[in-house]
Order: sequence, then structure tokens, then C-alpha cells
Amino acid sequence: AKREGRNGVRFFNSMLDVAAHSQMFTEVRLRRALQRQALQLHYQPQVDAETGALLGFEALVRWTDEELGAVSPTRFIPVAEESGLIVPLGQWVLNEACRQLAEWGPGVRVAVNVSALEVARDDFVAGVERALQRHGVGGEQLKLELTERLAVRDLHRAARHLSQLRDLGVRLSLDDFGTGQSSVSTLLKLPLDELKLDRSLITSLTDSPQAQRVVESLIGLARGLRLNVIVEGVETAGQLDLLRAMRCGVVQGYLTGRPAPPDTWADLIRTLRAD
Ligand code: C2E
Ligand code: CA
Ligand code: CA
Ligand code: CA
Repeated sequence: AKREGRNGVRFFNSMLDVAAHSQMFTEVRLRRALQRQALQLHYQPQVDAETGALLGFEALVRWTDEELGAVSPTRFIPVAEESGLIVPLGQWVLNEACRQLAEWGPGVRVAVNVSALEVARDDFVAGVERALQRHGVGGEQLKLELTERLAVRDLHRAARHLSQLRDLGVRLSLDDFGTGQSSVSTLLKLPLDELKLDRSLITSLTDSPQAQRVVESLIGLARGLRLNVIVEGVETAGQLDLLRAMRCGVVQGYLTGRPAPPDTWADLIRTLRAD
């Protein structure tokens, strides 16, 4: 029994080792991937709920490591935030999205996720402007999706930066609304154009009248504040029907298109330019 106990301790220690190692390993590999430009952006359509018209895309970062395989952003974005790598990563994402926008031409819009940590930095506005200018992209082609994943130390400073970007025509969306990550108090403190309702609100929509009332109320809240609404995670025709009946505005989800490499959307974008 004594021996077993010791093995237990040893096993426990090795588990901690693995966790710490994996966090650090992820960080080291991510830094390398950034230096080697080994990340990609995939794009997911944002669609008019009424007409099905394409309104733009959300850019979602993708990373496939030779040893770790495909790593989910839900795993490596928190590592990037804790290590500070989110700053160069965010700048890479912005630059790459603007490069793609320039390739696609005017009339296309892309939403980019930015972490609160980036927005509070004093060089944030200059970084966004640099990416736009470098590729000759208009501010109105860009939207930023904001999540308070980490406490915004200086919400006033963040709000000031966001106002400056809004003056350039950049639109601002509060991401993950309806989760602990986005609150009504943030809604009041930041200059916003759009509220993005989180997927977790949508999953039970078709079998829960309660969930329907919540979503309907949040759409009403947004309308009262003169904000556009976008609903993420729409997977079924049943969900879309309900959301259309609520006049939700814009939808995004597997039903209307999965995140995919930019070439996937080239034909769709040509039809966009034709009309
Ligand atoms: P998010 O901003 O809430 O993005 C939506 C997530 O839901 C994406 O996961 C997307 O692939 C997934 N999704 C879209 N439609 C559906 C659907 O119909 N059903 C289901 N089950 N899932 C759907 P992904 O790409 O794994 O990204 C996870 C999170 O990582 C994002 O959540 C975002 O917070 C963060 N992230 C992704 N790219 C970036 C980035 O470039 N910068 C930053 N700071 N964060 C990013
Ligand atoms: Ca998002
Ligand atoms: Ca998010
Ligand atoms: Ca979300």
C-alpha cells in the first residue's frame, strides 16, 4: 500500500509537470509559428437573416503545429494573452485580414477578434491604422469584435481608443454577449455598433420557450440602444426560422457557412461584386 501511495504522488507530480510543460510548450511553439508566419486565417460568412445576402466575414485564426497538430484558438489564445504574445499575434491577424481585404477588393467586409488586452494599449490605434494604410483598405471595411476575456484595467482608455477607430469608419461589435465574458456595464462604457449574441444562447432555442424569450429580450435591448444584432452559432433551419421571426438581423453559423480558407469564398465574392 505504501508503494502504491508513492506511485500515486509520483503520478500526480508528473501530471502537474505535463500541464506546466504543455502550457510552456504551447507558448514556445506559438512564438515560433508567429515568427515563421505559420498561422492562417479562416473566414466565416455573416449573412442577412431575411434575404440570405452575404454581408461580410469573421476572420478566425488557425494554427497547425508539426508536433501538436491543429491547436484550437480556445486553447492557444488564452496562452497568448497570458504570455503577451497576443500583441504580435493580434497585429499579424489585423495585417493579414487587411491584406486579404485588399485582394478581395472594396465592398467586402471583415470582422477581426481583438482581445481587451490589445485595445487598452497605447499603440493599438496606430497599429490598426498601419494595417489599413499598408494595404489601402478603408476603415469601413473593418469591424472589431471585442471580448472582455481579461478585465479591462482601463476601460476609459479602451473607450477612447475605440472612439478614435470609429472616427475612421471602423465598426465595433461586443462579442459573446449573454455570457460572463460580456456584460451590460461594458455595453454602457464602450462606443459600439453591434451586439453579438453568443452561441450558448442559441443551442437550446428550438426546445426552450425560456431561451426564446431571453434572445427576444436581448434583441429588444439592442434595438433600444440602436445597436445591430448578430447571432452566432446558428446550426439549424429551425433556429433560423425562430430568429427571423424575432427580426434578429444578421446570422452566422454552420448553417450558412463554416469557417474556411479564403479561396473557398472567391466565387461568392465575385457574385457580390457583380451586383
Ligand atoms: P468566437 O469569437 O465566439 O468565435 C466563434 C467560434 O464558434 C469559432 O470557434 C467558430 O469556428 C465557432 N462556430 C461558428 N459557427 C458555429 C456553429 O454554428 N456551431 C458551433 N458549434 N461553432 C461555431 P474558433 O474558431 O475555434 O474560435 C474560438 C474563439 O477563439 C473565438 O470565439 C474567439 O474568441 C477566439 N479567436 C479566434 N480567432 C481569434 C483571433 O484572431 N484573435 C483573438 N483575439 N481571438 C480569436
Ligand atoms: Ca468573435
Ligand atoms: Ca469571442
Ligand atoms: Ca462566442
